[in-house]
Amino acid sequence: MKLILFGAPGAGKGTQAEFLSKRLGVPTISTGEILRAAMKKGTAVGKEAKAYVDSGRLVPDDVIIGIIQERLAEPDCQKGYILDGVPRTLAQAEAMERMGVDVDVVLNLEIPDETIVERLCGRRICKDCGASYHLISNPPQKEGRCDSCGGELIIRRDDSPETVRERLRVYHAETEPLKAHYAASGKLRTVQSQERLEDTSRMVRETLGL
Ligand code: AMP
Repeated sequence: MKLILFGAPGAGKGTQAEFLSKRLGVPTISTGEILRAAMKKGTAVGKEAKAYVDSGRLVPDDVIIGIIQERLAEPDCQKGYILDGVPRTLAQAEAMERMGVDVDVVLNLEIPDETIVERLCGRRICKDCGASYHLISNPPQKEGRCDSCGGELIIRRDDSPETVRERLRVYHAETEPLKAHYAASGKLRTVQSQERLEDTSRMVRETLGL
């Protein structure tokens, strides 16, 4: 299964990607996660991306395309993959198609803008492995600690209300138009992100026939 998880920041892409990755036995490729890891390590890509990520803007297409090209060439991607948060522009989608990326489904998680700011305020991520939690809808078993690796849970720098508003603006201006691109190819499936995580997960499974 090759899948794109599409949707606004805070729609729940990362959380659904984690569930689906376990269920389908394929890796999740999150460009946001790869960029955060590169920023933490201080690599050249990380240094280039930092100002964009911290201010909620999109990292230039050539950087993202390079990351994807490298990551998809790794052996664990041969059976399939889940793309989380990429492509985010038409140029990225077209470059990926030229690379031979042919996905089965584009799963669009819809969420009203009003819900997003409130949702992202409760988000916490693991400092070490990047796993995502929510204080109310998806709390960790032990407060402040990651269930999978025990790492410390922190607030993402770009989850501040001003940066979230900028990320939303960018989503509507640059990413949302891609929906029409995937609708035209007949691959778009839409699920409304629900208040309760288990309801969204069930609808995602039903939509994908899992
Ligand atoms: P995410 O974790 O998907 O919310 O991504 C966090 C940030 O990383 C975004 O706000 C962008 O600055 C950057 N980013 C992640 N994926 C992409 C992408 N496909 N294209 C451009 N920028 C990206």
